[in-house]
Amino acid sequence: MNFAFITGGSRGIGRAVCIQLARMNYNILLNYKSNDEEANKTKALIEELGLTCELLKFDVSDKDQIKQVLGDWIENNKEKNIEVLVNNAGIRQDNLLMWMSDEQWETVLNTSLNAFFYVTRLVLNGMLVKKYGRIVNIVSLSGLKGLPGQTNYSAAKAGMIGATKALAQEVARRGVTVNAVAPGFIKTDMTGDLDEKQLSTLIPMKRFGTAEEVAEVVGFLSSKGASYVNAEVISVNGGLYS
Ligand code: NDP
Repeated sequence: MNFAFITGGSRGIGRAVCIQLARMNYNILLNYKSNDEEANKTKALIEELGLTCELLKFDVSDKDQIKQVLGDWIENNKEKNIEVLVNNAGIRQDNLLMWMSDEQWETVLNTSLNAFFYVTRLVLNGMLVKKYGRIVNIVSLSGLKGLPGQTNYSAAKAGMIGATKALAQEVARRGVTVNAVAPGFIKTDMTGDLDEKQLSTLIPMKRFGTAEEVAEVVGFLSSKGASYVNAEVISVNGGLYS
């Protein structure tokens, strides 16, 4: 039974990715942190498509929880094969570096960069054994360009971009590709506090993107057809930055 594992799949971009991958006939293993209601909504949407969706609730910023909950799932579900991994969970905790707390720095790094390491290390082994896998890391324009007020978030996402390129070269010969998608401004809960009207004036397409527009690109990179695309970062930002 083939599965796609998406971190942060309960809402926003993660939910759209779950639906996109279910449309590609993947059963979904959905991680989320706390929002049971939204996770169950995504699960219902997957089931409407005729696929299964298993919920795996744990905090990706906590490496012990990753090892325990995800580690146990892998150990107890040997017949289920994770072919696609999307490292999507992420948070913003913006502040100027001068005023940034230890906690703001650490939680943002732990949720994106460190989670990428601990989750991927666990999932990769099965892909290497099967000699097939697709890993897609959701990064950000902030990790390519750097944005003031986001030294923590820019560092986390830039770190993931470096790790994407390095890991891609380690595992390429085993049929596993590793790529990243870098969204610009996308309409989700994460950007709910931003001035969409004012920021849209800076974007050549004059609007924020949708989660589905990001999911389309993740779907492509997760597909068999993307077999020779590797170590790549694809921006989905309406032309804002390249
Ligand atoms: P949302 O805030 O809409 O959703 C975040 C998702 O991540 C939720 O499913 C949430 O779970 C989950 N999550 C957050 N923290 C944890 C954690 N510690 N452990 C497990 N799950 C967690 O975010 P978006 O959909 O907007 O963002 C998704 C990704 O895209 C992020 O990596 C973000 O950095 C990136 N991105 C987003 C952009 C945008 O404009 N929206 C732009 C560039 C990049 P729960 O529901 O339980 O809280």
